[in-house]
Amino acid sequence: MDMDTDLLIVGGGPAGCAAAVMAASVGMRSVLIESGDALCGALRRIPAVRNVLGVTNGPDLAAAIEADLGRCDPCRVELGRRATRIDAYDDHVEVTVQPVGPLGAVGSVRAVGCMGPVGSMEPEGFAQASGTRLTAPYVVVATGVGPLDPESVEWLGGAAGRALPPLWEANPAAIDDRTVLVLGADRPLGTVALAHPELRTRFVVAYPPEDAYKTEEIRQNPRMELVAVHRLELGPVSAPVTAEVRTVEGERRTLTADLAFLNLGSAPAPPAGAVARDRSGYCPPGSQHPRVFTAGDLRSVRFQRIATAMGSGGEAALGAYYASRGLPTETGMSTETGLTTETGGPPTEVGKPPDPTGGG
Ligand SMILES: Cc1cc2nc3c(=O)[nH]c(=O)nc-3n(C[C@H](O)[C@H](O)[C@H](O)COP(=O)(O)OP(=O)(O)OC[C@H]3O[C@@H](n4cnc5c(N)ncnc54)[C@H](O)[C@@H]3O)c2cc1C
Repeated sequence: MDMDTDLLIVGGGPAGCAAAVMAASVGMRSVLIESGDALCGALRRIPAVRNVLGVTNGPDLAAAIEADLGRCDPCRVELGRRATRIDAYDDHVEVTVQPVGPLGAVGSVRAVGCMGPVGSMEPEGFAQASGTRLTAPYVVVATGVGPLDPESVEWLGGAAGRALPPLWEANPAAIDDRTVLVLGADRPLGTVALAHPELRTRFVVAYPPEDAYKTEEIRQNPRMELVAVHRLELGPVSAPVTAEVRTVEGERRTLTADLAFLNLGSAPAPPAGAVARDRSGYCPPGSQHPRVFTAGDLRSVRFQRIATAMGSGGEAALGAYYASRGLPTETGMSTETGLTTETGGPPTEVGKPPDPTGGG
């Protein structure tokens, strides 16, 4: 059958972008679908990076990746398009794509490294279409993770209906010299501490015992008060913010702060259809349909890093390349039990809601 391209890539973070350049390096055309209005949106919000070779902050890395994709002729980037469904068949995959935001916002589409029409589809026609189905022999799914819903977090109460902003959105000037209640000990806390040593903020960090390992990088920071809790119940919406806690030592305390922020972690939310998930909601590469390759943060709670995202994206594209030539690799070739998938893929088992841990 006629296919739109050699490889579909869903998600334009470091994993998806690495998949695109790797695919190009072995002669594969690709279409990369990104729901945001720019590539690597997550990286643009990381002010300080110290575990990636060659860069010290997220915006510089995002700009470098965007430039690389701009030079990557065999890859067509479609921004502002959300993949809503992925179906996998014996001989091809189909990705259903919807425009994000108002229909007809063609001006918001920026084709980076556009190689012209792929199959029968002009970029402009694609931009206007609703529910477009794209076909290819293989798909790389690299949709990352999204913030956990506070109402799904068992140790936290009183959050329903409250507008609690995520910590990574905190305006440094607004939290300087204030006491801030941080709900959860996920990675953004370390990033804020590293990026803003000048802040005189006092951070009161309430977190469940299973997240204790995440506090290691901030444990010595004198601005942090760490409170391991079995339960935290937010008080009424008022100033100051109050919260009743039951600590892991069994003590009952009232925490008081000027402001409160969510920092609970994240969970994957891949498009519906053929992407297989394990019991915790993650999507391990070795458990997918042979035509579906997963890369980046959505693979695992423990390997959520920029460098591992890029490595796994490149590996996913190589997996598709070798598969297209009938050369087996471990990636995408094995199956495991305990997975959930709507179509195709290994055995079906309804998983629990995603584990409320994230950030690796
Ligand atoms: C505050 C913070 C600080 C961090 N600091 C560091 C650090 O210092 N070092 C480090 O190594 N890591 C850090 N990380 C983690 C790092 O950002 C991630 O590991 C990395 O971005 C994962 O890349 P990814 O491509 O898997 O996912 P993402 O970067 O999340 O990219 C996924 C992309 O997929 C798109 N998408 C999602 N769903 C769809 C869909 N249905 N259709 C189309 N597109 C879709 C999203 O818009 C997004 O652009 C930090 C994360 C945060 C939040």
